[in-house]
Amino acid sequence: MNFSLCDILAARKLISGEADWTPFVPSPFMSEVTGQEFLLKLENMQPVGAFKLRGAMNAVMSLPDTVGGVTCCSTGNHGRGVAYAAAKRGMKAVICMSSLVPQAKVDGIRALGAQVQIVGTTQDEAMQESQRLCDAEGLVEISPFDDPHVIAGQGTIGLEMLEARPDLATILVPLSGGGLAAGVAVAAKAINPAIRIIGITMERGAAMFESIRAGKPVEVGEYASLADSLGGGIGLENRLSFPLCRDNLDEIVLVNEEEIRDAMQVMFFEERIVAEGASVVGLAAALAGKLPKPDGPVATIVTGRNLDMPTFNTMMAGGDVTIADLTIKGKRYGA
Ligand SMILES: *Cc1c(COP(=O)(O)O)cnc(C)c1O
Repeated sequence: MNFSLCDILAARKLISGEADWTPFVPSPFMSEVTGQEFLLKLENMQPVGAFKLRGAMNAVMSLPDTVGGVTCCSTGNHGRGVAYAAAKRGMKAVICMSSLVPQAKVDGIRALGAQVQIVGTTQDEAMQESQRLCDAEGLVEISPFDDPHVIAGQGTIGLEMLEARPDLATILVPLSGGGLAAGVAVAAKAINPAIRIIGITMERGAAMFESIRAGKPVEVGEYASLADSLGGGIGLENRLSFPLCRDNLDEIVLVNEEEIRDAMQVMFFEERIVAEGASVVGLAAALAGKLPKPDGPVATIVTGRNLDMPTFNTMMAGGDVTIADLTIKGKRYGA
């Protein structure tokens, strides 16, 4: 394995002007709650509403002109990034997703002109379909997390954060397949080896957490969650994001659905930000008091904003919401 800060610097050059710098702002509310300066990196403000544009853009821009088209499996946001990047290059894109992906994400991808295939009920089934398309139709597959160009693209977030705030002590990174955490950790630790990188994910189906504990990639169940973008396995054949997360993450913290709901409400009512469940898990862990006591400025990455608005409105009003077979009890903010 051979992945370093150089790959991330090269990615920054390639995606410059397409998936660019996002605001990095203090949260007075969270700073008060945690007793430490607390900052938010606003990747929800990327053109496709999620950080995944960075990795997808870097991967698509790195392909030779002779490639006829691209395909991927996705929980929604990677597909949107790939669709956007492929459209920029005038390439065909086929995005494979399971039926667990919210309709709002599917619609967003279709609107970018990509072809959508809904297959099965798990990310693994979507991955198999995308691999079949590679062989059958000669498309190039872009993994959502286990690809050096994708990891390098996500790593540019870490560069921006450390350049703006070299004094950061801890970064809280939403964690699923680990492309984001791997890239951010490599960038941040190259600049400040003492920085703590904490991966945060939901309790139900914590694939990277279980895999690191087992010492090798393992399969986990896939469940409905407010953090739908964090669902799915890391791939039993994982080559890059697993070892990078294993070697560079200082800790992994798990949050439950109620904690995610509370954090989405804090984002909305205190920060006035519409953030999807996956993107607030860092905040959720801090609010729930699940983090080690910070010894310097803490930052988290607000990874995306792509959610179903009617469900979001119900949650913000304090109503119960149901996602597939899961019901999350409502709670009025501040009550
Ligand atoms: C994909 C995604 C993540 C997790 O990224 P990984 O690289 O798979 O760990 C977090 N938040 C959002 C909104 C995502 O779309």
